[in-house]
Amino acid sequence: MESRNNRIFGLVVTFLSILLIGLSYLYFYYTSENRSLRSKLTALSLVETQVYDIESIDKQIEDYKNIDEAIKNKYDEYYSNIAKLEEKITKGESSVKIAYLTFDDGPYDLTYKVLDTLKANNVRATFFVLGKDGVEDRYKRIVNEGHTLANHTYYHNIGKGLYDSVDGFISQVDKLENYLYDITGYRTTLVRFPGGSPTAKGLKDGIVNELHNRGYKYVDWTSETGDGSSKKLAQKDTWAWYQDTTRDKDIIVLLMHDYNYSTYNNLQRIIDDLKARGFIFLPLHNKSIMAN
Ligand SMILES: [Zn+2]
Repeated sequence: MESRNNRIFGLVVTFLSILLIGLSYLYFYYTSENRSLRSKLTALSLVETQVYDIESIDKQIEDYKNIDEAIKNKYDEYYSNIAKLEEKITKGESSVKIAYLTFDDGPYDLTYKVLDTLKANNVRATFFVLGKDGVEDRYKRIVNEGHTLANHTYYHNIGKGLYDSVDGFISQVDKLENYLYDITGYRTTLVRFPGGSPTAKGLKDGIVNELHNRGYKYVDWTSETGDGSSKKLAQKDTWAWYQDTTRDKDIIVLLMHDYNYSTYNNLQRIIDDLKARGFIFLPLHNKSIMAN
């Protein structure tokens, strides 16, 4: 009797052992199957992402092939948005104000310091330059540091031939354009008339027509530090000019000269003051409503 019970017990234990081994096997089989299924799914989703990536990479490669075009398009988009902001400001629909700082007649030695101050403040400005030898590094710095390099004619010879004829004026714009392009690889799109556009008198319309034919616009100014009249203006005078001519304006084009220490010594104060009054600083561009 006892030995029979032992045999039955043995059989039950053997049966249970086999069952346990069987179940363990099934468990491991299915979980590993699951795991491999899951890893296949992950791989598949990666492939999907890669297909998407390949499409966007193709587009990027297309951009790289036409990199000048792509950069130009980006700038166009950026400047169009600024033009929209300008319109909002003029309609009183924006609390933002825009300051276009402009420096004429350079580059000079002082241009280095002006560039340093702008860089330290993360401010972009515009330089209406002339044609000069030995200042190539300054033209390059202006472009490389994100400022607008703009055309102020090669010689700036007001009263000595500049405004004798439309062709004469345009030849100086072309001469400077070619000179700057050789040095920087950058094409200018903005011109400032030496002395301002009224100085061209009866030639103005003819010159503007020719400028437009070449894709240029011209920019005068709304405000100034008065430093063009004398290099010896006291610092308090350029400050007073600045305050008087920027009052009650939401978009300003501030005329300064990067040869004048009187202006330079106020530059940090001007930047701080404009910031405190809610202005942002932008480089000029030919989609601006300030460009004609
Ligand atoms: Zn000038």
